[in-house]
Amino acid sequence: MYRESGQVQCPYCWEMIWMDVDPSGGDVQNFIEDCEVCCKPIQYIARLNDEGEYDIEARTS
Ligand SMILES: [Zn+2]
Repeated sequence: MYRESGQVQCPYCWEMIWMDVDPSGGDVQNFIEDCEVCCKPIQYIARLNDEGEYDIEARTS
């Protein structure tokens, strides 16, 4: 089992953070995880793209 990771920008503090996506979770994933810098809850939307990598979007929840 491997994990995909991508860099996303926190919508609260604008820090760049690395987010791991578990490929077993499916092609489109929606989850909330606290920012490791400012500890606010970020909503992540990860979508598998044509290159087999995840595009990760971060939003305020
Ligand atoms: Zn943050």
